[in-house]
Amino acid sequence: MCYAIPGKIVEIQPGLATINYFGETRKARNDFFNLAIGDYVYAQGGLVIQKVREDEALLSLEAWKELFFELKKRDNKLSKFSAAAYGKVPITKEKALELLSISDKKEKELLFKTANSIRQKALGNACCVHGIIEFSNTCAADCLYCGIRRSNTALARYRMTPQEIMSAVKEAAGLGFKALVLQSGEDPYYTKEIFEKIVAEVHKEYGALIFLSVGERDRDFYAAMFKAGARGVLLRFETSNSGLYAKIKPGASFEKRIENLNFLKDIGYLIATGALLGLPGSTNEDLIADVLLARSFGTEMYSFGPFIPHPETPLRDTPIVAKDEVFKFIAVTRLMVPDAKILVTTALETIGQDARRLALMSGANSFMLNVTPIKYRRQYEIYKNRANIEVGLKEQVEEALSLLKDLGRAPTDLGL
Ligand code: SAH
Repeated sequence: MCYAIPGKIVEIQPGLATINYFGETRKARNDFFNLAIGDYVYAQGGLVIQKVREDEALLSLEAWKELFFELKKRDNKLSKFSAAAYGKVPITKEKALELLSISDKKEKELLFKTANSIRQKALGNACCVHGIIEFSNTCAADCLYCGIRRSNTALARYRMTPQEIMSAVKEAAGLGFKALVLQSGEDPYYTKEIFEKIVAEVHKEYGALIFLSVGERDRDFYAAMFKAGARGVLLRFETSNSGLYAKIKPGASFEKRIENLNFLKDIGYLIATGALLGLPGSTNEDLIADVLLARSFGTEMYSFGPFIPHPETPLRDTPIVAKDEVFKFIAVTRLMVPDAKILVTTALETIGQDARRLALMSGANSFMLNVTPIKYRRQYEIYKNRANIEVGLKEQVEEALSLLKDLGRAPTDLGL
């Protein structure tokens, strides 16, 4: 996000650029630009997303020069820990199950520290910070867990106009966001024709890495959005237990969800997916299967968060999973997929004080900030009282940067 670091192209192969950042090189896919050795670019999620003018790049690099190494040093120090406690990573399914059931405080601490140290070894101190714009809470689906389900007639619905979406994008881009998620309910109002214009404009004007999170649309829709410049999709499978899936998503098919994820991957999208933690009837075996299912898509971003029951839904009485269980799950995911990008979800921040920091110290390495205009945020009520619901964007960014600095993480995601 905010102050992503520009890098200099040092090598070019068809569709692939090698970029130098202060002596370290990374590779990034190049779908969009005509590049030459010596050009400066921004990359996000393994993709070149903007070309930068040399004078602008040099200015930014000057500002980054010391901080780049300082942050690394701090992260190295904070994550220094022998990662040998559980033998080799990735750990087996059996080991993962065993670790999910530990309850002793010291054992949990050991797990969190090990996961943090493996995160550092596998990925260094990069931390992706995406902005999310929830542009419509209108939803044709009736998921039992979700407050914006169509049967919740108590909720006032909104749809942001293309102009409103663009002005939210402009604000986020102005604050330096380089990766944006456009999320909504299942809302057919945004037809292919309407939405591809929005995607194309965001791509052209702001060069952000665009993730779509608009639910199940057909292949033709997603192919058009890819053509317009979107490169990521956030679509959770919610649970890998197909029987449970059928219960919590009436009328939907688990096979179809998986088919969707497969064709999205096939089109070329980066996949962000995951599941809800604490669904009624879900077991630790299901959770391990969830991680393995996510891994099978070559998932770019692991998005797993606690389920928070909403009073206007059939699952209103489900108890919320304890926050430590979520940290354990994040740590185990890190041990199962050492190089995963693992998200701290807003739902986790909602159930636990200081959860963002604790999760980042337990294996996670990315989070999202809410870029939705404040007047609509409360209405995007998938559950009640979401964290940061009234916090302005600038303030959120400042808070995030100060946390990252404290933890020695670089708020950027440079490439492969
Ligand atoms: N229509 C899109 C986006 C849905 S909202 C889609 O289907 O992908 C995004 C995510 O919010 C969902 O995938 C779900 O996992 C999560 N969510 C919904 N209700 C929730 C709740 N009560 N608690 C926590 N997360 C919830």
